Amino acid sequence: MSAGKSPAPPPLTDDCFALPPGVDWTPVEEALERLRARLRPVVGSETLPLSQADGRILARDHAAPRANPPGPNAAVDGYGFAFASLPAGDAVLPLVPGRAAAGAPFGGRVPPGQAIRILTGALLPEGVDTVVLEEDTRTGNGEVAFRPPKPGANTRKAGEDIAAGAVALRAGTRLRPTDLALAAATGLAAVEVHRPLRVAVLSTGSELSEPGATADPGRTYDANRPMLLGLLARWGFETVDLGAATDDRAEIRARFEKAAAGADALLTSGGASAGDEDHVSALLKEAGALADWRIALKPGRPLALGMWGGMPVFGLPGNPVAALVCALIFARPALLRLAGAPWAEARGFTVPAGFAKSKKPGRREYLRARLDAEGRAEVYPSEGSGRIAGLSWAEGLVELADGAREIARGDPVRFLPFAGFDLG
Ligand code: AMP
Ligand code: MG
Repeated sequence: MSAGKSPAPPPLTDDCFALPPGVDWTPVEEALERLRARLRPVVGSETLPLSQADGRILARDHAAPRANPPGPNAAVDGYGFAFASLPAGDAVLPLVPGRAAAGAPFGGRVPPGQAIRILTGALLPEGVDTVVLEEDTRTGNGEVAFRPPKPGANTRKAGEDIAAGAVALRAGTRLRPTDLALAAATGLAAVEVHRPLRVAVLSTGSELSEPGATADPGRTYDANRPMLLGLLARWGFETVDLGAATDDRAEIRARFEKAAAGADALLTSGGASAGDEDHVSALLKEAGALADWRIALKPGRPLALGMWGGMPVFGLPGNPVAALVCALIFARPALLRLAGAPWAEARGFTVPAGFAKSKKPGRREYLRARLDAEGRAEVYPSEGSGRIAGLSWAEGLVELADGAREIARGDPVRFLPFAGFDLG
């Protein structure tokens, strides 16, 4: 540059987040739809006893080997008889000797016009189809007196919960303790589940250091790695901690290679934009597999989605707030799909806004939010993408659709609780 001809500063724009002219940004919904259409489970399966299966994803449908309940039984403690053998009006029936209890069935037959003592869970003896509740009876002289209940009262039918051979648990279900109860009740002692997805995590940025390792204000403590590793563990994945790499293409490439050798997918943070030091997007571009990075999302620019040697790479933005939003909205459903689960829609509900905001058109926005005592969504006072205190303050996100919107206090907004992302 010759003396006296300094470049003029660029003209100011109305909105520093305005989209560059002529560039089409991919709407969030479209980017998600692409992931949904293209991703498939990549993990094999193994058979595990129920005691080791909690949190795992079922690799196939599992049918009930046995019905639940396996036979008709009593739902209460009382007296059993054949309804059709009752006289009109109040009944006084002779009691047969013995009783039927759970685990100790009555072996004989109860004759018509007679009753038997029966306890909760006992198989109905032959000749019994109805049970009267103990509290509704009087006994004495070897007889039981009662006002007849409805036919079949206080009994459970065989298979009323689930029939033998019916699908008890579907492929793709992430097993919860309640699912283990159903598996056990139908006689499934072991289940075929997917091997856990292994996800590597890499931070990039020459400014990064380990938390507390230096007092140098030129260094940024790596906040993304513990956050992302924690999220992945909560989502049921195995994690591979690849540490932090400086902004050096060869170093980042070597970590990519390491990830591809030992993991099914890679989450990186930082370096995903198009600048000189943005080596994550550059490497994916070099591999010819940078799928998407201009996604109309705030915060979340830039997000680099691509493939590296067959391994999906989620190049999250470096800003921790944007990294979290991209991890929840994009990485979570995609990784769950790779792990064998069905596509997971973000779960939320509509609440009144506890704030006012004028939203510009062109991209979807996620605000750090939580519900106040009246159930209104409050948002964090600063939308700054580096405001990590706001992440820790938040209990969810408010999602604002792509269009422009004037939001007044009390207007309906969509709240996505962190709990819906398994981030309680
Ligand atoms: P980048 O996406 O690499 O341009 O980074 C954007 C901003 O996020 C910069 O201020 C980085 O210093 C910051 N940043 C990047 N990675 C991390 C990280 N792991 N922890 C905290 N801040 C980060
Ligand atoms: Mg960087």
